[in-house]
Amino acid sequence: MVLELNTPVMYVKGIGPRLAELLKAKGIDTVEDLLYYLPFRYEDRLNARTIAELKAGEMASVIAEVRTAMLFRTKRMPIFEVTFGQGRSTLKGVWFHGTYLKDKFKPGQLVALYGKVDKSTRGRGGLQVIQPQYEILAEPQEAGSGTEDTEKEADRKVEESLEIGRIVPIYESAANQKLTSRWFRNAIYRALQNLSNEILDGVPRAIAERVSLIDRREAFEKVHFPPAGESFADLQSARTPAHFRLIFEELFFLEVGLELKRKKLRARQGISFKLDQPVRAAIKKFLPFHPTTAQKRVLKEIADDMLHPAPMRRLLQGDVGSGKTIVALQAAVIAIENGYQAALMAPTEILATQHYLAARRMLEPCGYRVVLLTGSLDQDRKRQIRRHIAQGNAQLVIGTHALIEEKVEFAKIGLVVVDEQHRFGVMQRFKLMKKGAAEPDVLVMTATPIPRTLALTLYGDLDTSTLDELPPGRTPITTRRVTDERAEEVWAFVRKQIKAGHQAYVVYPVIEAAEDESEWPGMEADPTKKGRSKMGLKAAVAMYDELRKKIFPDLRIGLLHGKLDSEEKEAIMRRFQRGELDLLVSTTVIEVGVDVANANIMVVEHAERFGLAQMHQLRGRIGRGAAKSYCILMTDATAKVSEEAERRLDEMVRTQNGFEIAELDLELRGPGEFFGTRQAGMPELRVANLLRDRKILEIAKREASAVVAGGDSAITQQEMSAVMEHLKKHWQRRYGLVEVG
Ligand code: ADP
Ligand code: MG
Repeated sequence: MVLELNTPVMYVKGIGPRLAELLKAKGIDTVEDLLYYLPFRYEDRLNARTIAELKAGEMASVIAEVRTAMLFRTKRMPIFEVTFGQGRSTLKGVWFHGTYLKDKFKPGQLVALYGKVDKSTRGRGGLQVIQPQYEILAEPQEAGSGTEDTEKEADRKVEESLEIGRIVPIYESAANQKLTSRWFRNAIYRALQNLSNEILDGVPRAIAERVSLIDRREAFEKVHFPPAGESFADLQSARTPAHFRLIFEELFFLEVGLELKRKKLRARQGISFKLDQPVRAAIKKFLPFHPTTAQKRVLKEIADDMLHPAPMRRLLQGDVGSGKTIVALQAAVIAIENGYQAALMAPTEILATQHYLAARRMLEPCGYRVVLLTGSLDQDRKRQIRRHIAQGNAQLVIGTHALIEEKVEFAKIGLVVVDEQHRFGVMQRFKLMKKGAAEPDVLVMTATPIPRTLALTLYGDLDTSTLDELPPGRTPITTRRVTDERAEEVWAFVRKQIKAGHQAYVVYPVIEAAEDESEWPGMEADPTKKGRSKMGLKAAVAMYDELRKKIFPDLRIGLLHGKLDSEEKEAIMRRFQRGELDLLVSTTVIEVGVDVANANIMVVEHAERFGLAQMHQLRGRIGRGAAKSYCILMTDATAKVSEEAERRLDEMVRTQNGFEIAELDLELRGPGEFFGTRQAGMPELRVANLLRDRKILEIAKREASAVVAGGDSAITQQEMSAVMEHLKKHWQRRYGLVEVG
């Protein structure tokens, strides 16, 4: 039968309902899904190497015959060894713990191997490949024998031609190895054979021409079965015209969808705030200092949005300490001066409280009424505050999740500021908005510098402002890496800074020694590492005792961690803020937003255990005042620091630029992890890779904005409806994103 893209995959020859069920688990329902299952690499079997010409140290792909196969046991493990041959040359394949391969290999089979060639460690030298990837291309009885079943024979010929003498696509196997790379190759080949010649292509012709897209069907064919002469390097790096076509298309529709969301929003009725002379005076009056040029620029961007009748959806990103809070308060004053209320939502009680104290300090002298609403307040107090909010007495409402959870009704909400929004998950931020009658403006603030590629996808429906300048009078932070063998020196240095009147943070990865035990049930406690967890981690609670009793008995030390209730946390933070504590032992709870300008030194123990963005956030707690600041990243001398951890630590020492750090973090962790998985709203892309395909993303974005803005006469009405049709079908399912209008 002729297959269409939306034909269920079970109708592809050789698949059927049972295998279709297995494919479903991989997210493959239709022929189109199957075609989007792209090879993750290619093997050059066109120029397959002879064993005789292999050299130790190179990656090679070889086609050879199985001569002998055997399993033998060493003291340490069972090893499976296969001797492959080509004429008189032989090559060993070695699999550690290879018992499972016992019945796989038989003499006479033809096998394709891919792996790193090494000098053989056993026997008479020669070459070997350790744990090679392999594919059995033909069974011994098949090879060359005349056969009774001609249809089978024909199938075999086709298969053979897919395996040998060409550039071969290699797929990730699925369903527990049941669906092998070879299986996918055949299934996809058959799907392409029977695929209709007229498949839908939603990209308008004018755009396809402008960015030089090849035909969609041709792209599917070539990406799976590259034509002879295709550049092997381009294939491996996904840079062939076929790859470009598929990647562009995916990103193009993603960006069109995001642009449409923005457009739809711009058409909605929001509030037009006024910014006349008295209001202008009001937003300057309460400031204790002169705003930086960056703060002025960003405030203007925000104010322009606020004056505009469409609801604002703006992302304000700025490195830790760049002064976002002040800008947010200025925006709040604009709303309040216009007779509206403003809300500021923070991710933790500590931060909400800190914002509240700062806001009161600045705004109350000018007569503004500020309230705080958090979950830990008692019921009476909450009820009272809710009433102030509902009656409009409270002009600026600062709070935590409680603002969403506690059925808060605003009298007249005009502006919502969400701090550190990724902590909330993207969807939650919209809940708050429904509370008011007129649609309020929304400003999202984040101290995680967001690499542009992510900003264009994850936040593609928001406008962005960036604070790229730190307030004056800051000296750069000196960052050093030491192992904890030098802890004594470090503590002496900390003491010296404290004696000079400063304060210090000491940060640990876990709260209590017992914390990580459950994850490592088999692990024995090491009695030489007292006060450490079973994984050998120094924990905040135990180290707090150690520091307090042995190392700094003469200093005032506090302990802050996530298991304290919020009153205790606040009490400790307040004491540290007032300078009643010299040193704060803490976990990462201090990571976001905590602001104590007199603290100029931070020691991070087990720095090898922290993520890059996390360390950067932590370090942002110091360097906030005029005094020189020091960040000491102390690693565990008894632990082996992984290569990736080395890179993180080096980067921390090298730069303080949050955007550079974010780029590397993204590279090390991948977009999915960057914000802690997709719950943060990352679209699921199947061909594009945001790191690799930055340039294509920019092109796609440009073309998408042009299409949505309209006015390109080369794009017909019909083509426009095709674009919309495509989006309607794919938006939710493909990108996992919510409705488009
Ligand atoms: P962020 O929220 O971006 O991390 P904050 O708004 O908390 O940064 O500001 C960090 C510190 O810098 C605060 O102590 C704040 O009072 C101070 N600050 C902000 N803007 C300025 C400025 N223009 N001049 C001097 N100090 C500033
Ligand atoms: Mg802040």
